[in-house]
Amino acid sequence: MHEVGIISSLVKTIEKMIQEEGMTEVQRVVLEVGELSGIVPEYMEKCWPAATYHTFMEKTTLEMHVVPGIVKCRDCGELFNAVGCDMKCPICQSVDMEILSGNDLIVQELMCR
Ligand SMILES: [Zn+2]
Repeated sequence: MHEVGIISSLVKTIEKMIQEEGMTEVQRVVLEVGELSGIVPEYMEKCWPAATYHTFMEKTTLEMHVVPGIVKCRDCGELFNAVGCDMKCPICQSVDMEILSGNDLIVQELMCR
């Protein structure tokens, strides 16, 4: 599961972020997980305790919001949910699309002390 690696680098990124603010503890982190990011929220949840064990985030609560993978068809201009439509345009069946949202993993909120 590549989620373990993602969480490890996330812990490092957040550590830098809060050190700049002079904080040491994160009570809760809210992540925006894009449907097209390749990250599975269930796996994130499963890996979280092990991946944060013995880090400053081992007591941090993880919360995730899934961002729908919205794409625009480059052939007919239709907007649709890529996951719900099997990565194909429901109107013209084209697979040539532009990703509008749901491609990223974003730290939306940190609750620090
Ligand atoms: Zn189309």
